[in-house]
Formats: sequence, C-alpha cells, structure tokens
Amino acid sequence: MRRLLACLVAVLIAAGAPAWAAERPVTILISIDGFRADYLDRGITPVLSRLAEEGVRGAMRPSFPSKTFPNHYTLVTGLRPDRNGIVENNMEDPAIPGVTFKMSNRDAVRDRRWWDQAEPIWVTAETAGIPTAPYFWPGVEAPIRGVRPRYWVKFDMDTPNAARVDQVLNWLDLPPAKRPRFVTLYFDTVDTAGHDYGPESAEVNAAVAGVDVEIGRLLEGLKARGRDANIVVVADHGMAALSDDRKAYMDDVLPKTAYRSLAGGAFMTIYPAAGHEAEVDAALIRPHDHYQCWRKAEIPGRFRYGRNPRVAPYFCLAETGWALTTRDYRPSKPERGAHGFDPASAEMAAIFIAHGPAFRAGVRLPDFNNVSVYPLLAKLVRVSPRPNDGTIADIAKGLVAP
Ligand code: AMP
Ligand code: ZN
Ligand code: ZN
Repeated sequence: MRRLLACLVAVLIAAGAPAWAAERPVTILISIDGFRADYLDRGITPVLSRLAEEGVRGAMRPSFPSKTFPNHYTLVTGLRPDRNGIVENNMEDPAIPGVTFKMSNRDAVRDRRWWDQAEPIWVTAETAGIPTAPYFWPGVEAPIRGVRPRYWVKFDMDTPNAARVDQVLNWLDLPPAKRPRFVTLYFDTVDTAGHDYGPESAEVNAAVAGVDVEIGRLLEGLKARGRDANIVVVADHGMAALSDDRKAYMDDVLPKTAYRSLAGGAFMTIYPAAGHEAEVDAALIRPHDHYQCWRKAEIPGRFRYGRNPRVAPYFCLAETGWALTTRDYRPSKPERGAHGFDPASAEMAAIFIAHGPAFRAGVRLPDFNNVSVYPLLAKLVRVSPRPNDGTIADIAKGLVAP
C-alpha cells in the first residue's frame, strides 16, 4: 500500500502535480528579541533544547550597533546596518530633513525611504511570486522598493504571544496556492524582562519559559496539520546586566547646550550644536573612563560602521555593562539590563537554532556573524541571494545538502 502511494506521488510529481503532492517545507524564521545565547543552557527550555539537539545550534555575534531594528534588518538582508540603512533605532537622514526615525514614529516606520537601501528577503521572494508572511518583522509596514509582503500586520506589542502563534498557524491553513512559504514570528517578552529585571532575573527565566511553551504550541500545530517546516530561531542581540555603580555621565565632560543626542545607555550618539563643533570634538576625542568616543569616520574597522550618512557625527560606546547617560536622566523605571554594547562581548551573543528537513541533527556550529543568516534563508526559500555581507559557509556544516 505504502509503495503504491509512493508510486502515485511519483507519477503525480512527474505529471506536474498539484501543489500538495510536491509540497516543500515552509520556512519559519522566529525572532526572540534579546534571547542571549546562553539562556538555552538554563534548563528551562525543553522545546528549544530539543530543537537544538535534533538540529543545529550556534551563537551569533550581532552586527554593530547591537540594537533591535538594525539587527532585524541585517538578519533579513545580510547587510550590516551601515549598508542596510537602518543604522540605529533612532536616527536622522540629511536627505529626509525634519524627521527623526524611531520605532514609535509610525509614519517613519512606514516610509520606504528609510528601508530602501536594502532588499529584505520577503521582497525578493514576493517578486519571484512566492507568498510571504513576515509577521511583526521591522520593515513590514513599509512598501520596500515598492513591494509589500502578501500578509503582514501592523506592529502591536500588546498582542499576546499565543495569539501570534495562532496567527501563523492560520496563515498555514490557507489553501496551498495562497499559503505563505516564508513566515516570521516575533516575541518581545524576553527583551522586555531583560531590560526591566536584568538577564539573571527570575522574570527573564519566566519569559524564556513562556516563549518556549508557545514555540511548542507552534510545533504541535504544524504536526497536527502534517506540515513540514524548516525552522530558524534567532535573536537580534543578547543582554548585559547594568548596575547603579556602573554609570558614566556625558555632562561631566560636555554641557548639554553643546550637543544633541538621539540615544543613551550602551552608547550615545552625539550631534554637536551649531557653533560648538570644536568644543565637542575636544571634549570627546580623548580618553574617558569606561567609554570611548569616535568621530564617525574613525570608528574601528571591525564595527563596519560610519560610512552611512545616517550615522551620527560622534559615537560614544560604553564598556559592556556600563551605562552612558546624563545626571538629570530619569527613566520611568530603572533599567537593569541593556544591549547596544560591543557585538564581540559574550553578553551580546544571540541564540541560533535551525531544525527541519534541510538540517542535520546534533550539529554545533562555531560562533558566527549574524549576516550569514540571510544566505541561509535565501537557500531555504529558494531565491537567489542579493549581494550581502554573509557567507553560507558559516552554516554549511549543519545542512543536509550544503
Ligand atoms: P530595543 O530597545 O532595541 O530592545 O527594542 C525592543 C523593542 O522594540 C520591543 O520592546 C518592541 O516593542 C519594539 N519593537 C519591535 N518590533 C517593532 C516594530 N516592528 N515596530 C515598532 N516597535 C517594535
Ligand atoms: Zn532587540
Ligand atoms: Zn531591548
């Protein structure tokens, strides 16, 4: 009977079979914001740990700066932030005057000009006629290079994790011709708990365990539908603990009237006020305890950062675990964890797990740069990758057919 069925399928495939007969596994990219690579060793993630054992596990260095929007765009374009255009969560562009790009600025997030420097994989796939559903991924709200994903939803942080999983399963219930072949899923609860309570907290562990349960529900849902999937689990960055005794104050070296800043914490971006250029330069470009500042053209080469017109004129990076702030800064709640630090520090390392028919079992990869996720995705989705900063060689050891 089995043989007969196999024969029938073979004949159908040969005859230009209906989609169900030759169905290929869907690619599901899951981002768990702020999931530091070593959270996986805490013994609280039965589902993710099983995926890692039955598949491929690694730790990724984020791209500079280790923030959410830049790294999410890197993961789906293979380009470092300096080349993909999303150089920071908060930025300005001389070509888009009068606007500050921020995650909370809805109009900016929907304006393709901020995203058009790169082509995310869903745009390439849609252009090739492959339906996609990049759920809540930064950039999906804009018609990048004139193309929108077939399925997308406006970002809403209040959507419970369970509802996010249900939405993905609903898309996978669509008839084959309408069903997305590349899907993403995004969870922010681990990052939020990391900022509010620190990476070593019970709250982070609870958030990690909660996301693990939801990914378990996704797997159950796929199984119930008889759906094969290549699943790639990533994070955009890790999380470092902050402390009240590890603060450096910019106003100790520079009066607030001399500059503007769009970011503080792990790093500070500095825009000199008109007429204060020389004062700012002299104050910043010298040694400081627990942080270092560079003119944008002199940012160390290993960060691959500073050519983009959107990069601030000065960039000051704190030592990992230190916060660069001002004495009058009063956040609504104290931050116990942060990211944005040197991508090479262990605390910034991000989770990577890959599981499914394309992947070998029990493979542990050497640490790699997150730009290499993109060529992997292109292979799984079967589109030719755009020029990028990654290399599939970083992940090839984990592939059944490299
Ligand atoms: P970060 O401060 O860099 O860790 O950013 C994390 C925050 O980004 C999360 O708390 C989310 O609420 C927010 N976020 C993630 N994706 C989006 C999006 N597509 N649109 C707006 N905000 C987002
Ligand atoms: Zn993040
Ligand atoms: Zn964060």
